[in-house]
Amino acid sequence: MNVLVKGQVFGSVKYWLYSIEWQKRGLPHSHILIWLTNTLRPNQIDDIISAEIPNPSTDKNLYNIVIKNMVHGPCGAFNSLSPCLKEGNCSKMYPRQFIKETRFATDGYPLYRRRKPEDGRQTATVEMKSDSVLIDNRWIVPL
Ligand SMILES: [Zn+2]
Repeated sequence: MNVLVKGQVFGSVKYWLYSIEWQKRGLPHSHILIWLTNTLRPNQIDDIISAEIPNPSTDKNLYNIVIKNMVHGPCGAFNSLSPCLKEGNCSKMYPRQFIKETRFATDGYPLYRRRKPEDGRQTATVEMKSDSVLIDNRWIVPL
């Protein structure tokens, strides 16, 4: 929080709060709310939060981190036993839709940019229990 607030990583911070939660396997994660002094526009959000597969030729380390930790599922037809499935549909709403630009939905939640793979760069193969699955940006959890 010191880096985010005093370091002004995202800009000047007006208010902030956080909560640390522990998952079943003992792994902590945090929920952080930061209220910036200056309102961000949707196009500025893409500089802070991404829901896309990084380019492995420019940042192989980030690509590996995202592919290892920030891919939802894949569930549904790829894994019908996935715990996210409720009555056959993903309760986390994956795969998300492709979106050219980040925008806010009518409920106020952001719909993060998830571009279609046009040059093949934004796809990746992930290993499932007995299969390899080709995924794209629709399966990436925002980070
Ligand atoms: Zn799912």
